[in-house]
Amino acid sequence: MTEPILQVKDVVKHYPLTRGIIFKKQIGQVRAVDGVSFDVLPGETLGIVGESGCGKSTLARLVMKLEDPTSGEIWFEGEDMARLGPKAMRAKRRDIQIVLQDPYTSLNPRMTVGDIVGEPFEIHPSVVPKGGRKKAVQDLLDVVGLNPEHINRYPHQFSGGQRQRIGIARGLALKPKIIVCDEPVSALDVSVQAQVINLFESLQSEFNLTYLFIAHDLSVVRHISDRVAVMYLGKIAEVGDEASIYEHPAHPYTQALL
Ligand code: ADP
Ligand code: MG
Repeated sequence: MTEPILQVKDVVKHYPLTRGIIFKKQIGQVRAVDGVSFDVLPGETLGIVGESGCGKSTLARLVMKLEDPTSGEIWFEGEDMARLGPKAMRAKRRDIQIVLQDPYTSLNPRMTVGDIVGEPFEIHPSVVPKGGRKKAVQDLLDVVGLNPEHINRYPHQFSGGQRQRIGIARGLALKPKIIVCDEPVSALDVSVQAQVINLFESLQSEFNLTYLFIAHDLSVVRHISDRVAVMYLGKIAEVGDEASIYEHPAHPYTQALL
């Protein structure tokens, strides 16, 4: 039996809901993620689908360790991430990368494509590949279907789909094991969505990647996902493979999404 690469165990994230500007008074809490558990196997794509505000991006930030859960545990390769020391944590961070929704706002407009894609090497200088940073960046541009000669261009000189490819190249730079894709095609035209999803699929087999693929639309994740988890108000309503989610949805919310 294969061990899961990622285990999310009863994870909860509550944010305080406050009133008042100077004397902040807590009047309640937002249950952004409210007891979520799932396992992901190496090389698998788990689709996570749910309407806006159901907690998908919060879950993504928790898996990325950008925030700590209120309770619950996140295990990566058999280890509880909360128990890692700073050095081990730094190494693990390389293994889990994120590709964000909106290539218009997630790319710094004043940085060249070369600097954007090569920035992870600045943060982790120990992993700059042998041929040097420039060569590595050009190889990455080539891998995602961009012209390696465009390394000195700026984000505004690219189309939406090309900008998303820049974000993907950056996500690949450190050779991660897992990529959390937070609505990576939601801002793109439908025709471009398919091309970018195809790119994700070919990269997955080429680099042996595991994906958490977040979308607000079930149809987007249908072909790329091995299993789909349907989120509703911070909880997982149901999780299953294509046949169970799309042909025999058990939860009324899944039926409504379809
Ligand atoms: P999704 O990505 O599915 O649209 P989010 O994870 O962004 O959902 O948000 C889930 C809920 O948590 C929303 O009600 C949102 O307003 C709330 N939320 C998210 N981040 C914060 C935060 N930093 N502080 C307070 N509330 C937050
Ligand atoms: Mg979101």
